[in-house]
Amino acid sequence: MADEENDIILYAKKKVNEPNNKSYENAKKLSEAGKLKLVSEFILEPYGGRGFELKKGQVVRYELISGPQIIDLFYMVKSRPMEEWADTFHTSAFGPHTQWEGSHYYSNSPWCRPLVTMIRDTVDAKKMQELYGPAAAHSYVLHNGACSPAVWESVFGTVNSNACHYNLAQAIMEIAGEEVARRHIHPAAFMHFQCIAFDKTPTALTYFSAKGVINPGDFVELLAHEDLLVAISPCPLGDQEDMSSMENCTCYPVRVAIFEGEDGPLETAPDPGRKSMNAVDFIKAGRPGMVVGKIGSKE
Ligand SMILES: [Zn+2]
Repeated sequence: MADEENDIILYAKKKVNEPNNKSYENAKKLSEAGKLKLVSEFILEPYGGRGFELKKGQVVRYELISGPQIIDLFYMVKSRPMEEWADTFHTSAFGPHTQWEGSHYYSNSPWCRPLVTMIRDTVDAKKMQELYGPAAAHSYVLHNGACSPAVWESVFGTVNSNACHYNLAQAIMEIAGEEVARRHIHPAAFMHFQCIAFDKTPTALTYFSAKGVINPGDFVELLAHEDLLVAISPCPLGDQEDMSSMENCTCYPVRVAIFEGEDGPLETAPDPGRKSMNAVDFIKAGRPGMVVGKIGSKE
């Protein structure tokens, strides 16, 4: 975990995250008390993506059924999927690269709005960290990363291997159409159920097996703060137990269930209403009112 004393933007993180914590705490409390009602559900089978809608104030649960299965997610704002989506940079800038209960997932610039918040995570983090070290986690982001056929061809020499890259494109096409899928050809993916640790210097990942650590019945839940289009991919690494070849990876289905409160959608985080401009529009407009610092003189 980050050393808080050395985290020079800790105060900035608190300021950005704080307004969103009330809706998180409320949703978590209702979920734990069994006061969410099921709206819809489907089973995500291995080797293909699915797209689905998630409404403002709804909760999505990703639940393991028969074995640990890595999933990759991409969240787009329904009213403008070409322009605004959950962004791995803003999310990891205002939280760590690993996500936990209470982590808010922020959209890209210029909006930087909370789009979803993780409200529950049943994975035994203590056990995971005893096995894999204090930096171990299972929900994380990596440089807009999702596995690609190019990765598997580079590693295994296999051509057109199933990959989150393909599955997410399929999912985005299904829910938002081809134009949007081509716009997000390498989407900013958020992972769950993948045991990792950012424990290498320079900072890099180590991957660990989820077998015996993340179990059937384990789930994560996220509250949506906006009407969203969601793309989900079951990663072909599956349980990450045997990664010696594509053919040796074992995958499992995952239950995706959507809930609301007993009286409808839950309370959501406030829109911060940021006013900075889209970058291209700003440049074309001649950088109106641009705020800068000062240029130093030779010392
Ligand atoms: Zn993958």
